[in-house]
Amino acid sequence: MDFSNQIILVTGAARGIGRAIAAAFAHHGGTVAVHYRSSGAEAQALARSLSGQGHAAFRADVSDPAAGEKLVNEVVGRYGRLDVLVNNAAIYEVKPLQDLSYADWQATWKRTLDANLVGPANLCFLAAKIMMKQNSGKIINISSRGAFRGEPDAPAYGAAKAGLNQLSQSLAWALAQYNIFVGVVAPGFVRTDMAAELLDGPQGDAIRKQSPLNRVATPEEIAEAVIRLAADGMLYATGCILDVNGASYLRS
Ligand code: NAP
Repeated sequence: MDFSNQIILVTGAARGIGRAIAAAFAHHGGTVAVHYRSSGAEAQALARSLSGQGHAAFRADVSDPAAGEKLVNEVVGRYGRLDVLVNNAAIYEVKPLQDLSYADWQATWKRTLDANLVGPANLCFLAAKIMMKQNSGKIINISSRGAFRGEPDAPAYGAAKAGLNQLSQSLAWALAQYNIFVGVVAPGFVRTDMAAELLDGPQGDAIRKQSPLNRVATPEEIAEAVIRLAADGMLYATGCILDVNGASYLRS
C-alpha cells in the first residue's frame, strides 16, 4: 500500500481509533489532516510525531454544518486536494430509555444524530464535491456492529450507525461514475476511551467472550481494515460494509 502524495482527512484523529488510522496512513506515505474537536494538544502532538511530512491539525465540531464546511475548506486550502475522507469521529452515550425523560430522550437523539450521521453526511457531501472535480477519491465511514445487532442502551447510536451504512451505500451508487469509492468499516468492541467503562466494568469479561478470540479489537486492527479499503485497486468493492468484530456477530 502506498499513499504517497495523497491527502487524507481523518476525523476524530487525536485519540482512539482515529489516531491509529492517522498513524497507519502516515506509515504508508500519506499526508494526514488530523481533525479534532476538543483534544487540541493531542492532535498537534500527533501531527508533529507522525512519520513523513506535511501533517497538520484542524479543529471542528462536526455536528456544526458551518464548522464542517470550514474544515474541508481549510484542508483543501492548505493541500489543494483531498484524496481520502475517513469519517471516524462519533459519540456514544449510554442512555437506557427507562432512565430518560422525554426531553432527555430528544436531546440525546439530536446530539447523536448530529455528530454521528448528519455531520458525517455533510463531510461526505463537501468531500464528494472536491473528489468529483478530481475524478477520484475515497470515503470510508466508521460504523458499528451495533447498526446490525442493535444497541439496547444507546438506540440513537445504533440508528445513527445504521443510517451511516445506508448513506454510504447510496453514495457508493451515486459517486461510482466519478471514480469515487465509498465504503464502511463496522467494528465490534475496540479498546478505546469510548468502550473503557464497559470493558473495565463488571461486564468486561462477558464482552470479551462475545468473540471466539476472547478479546476485543485494538485500534490498530480497525486502522488496518481502513487502509486496506482505501488502497488502490479496491474500487469494485465500493458500497461494501466490512465487519471487523472478531466473529462476535456474523451477518448472513
Ligand atoms: P473515542 O475514543 O471516544 O474518540 C471519539 C473521537 O471522536 C474523538 O477523537 C473526538 O474528538 C471525536 N468527536 C466526538 N464528537 C465530535 C464532534 N461533535 N465533532 C468532532 N469530533 C468529535 O472513540 P473511538 O472508540 O475511537 O471511536 C471511533 C469510531 O469507531 C466512532 O465512529 C465509533 O462509533 C466507532 N466504534 C467504536 C467502537 C469501540 O468499541 N470503541 C465500536 C464500534 C464502533 P475530541 O477528542 O477532539 O473531542
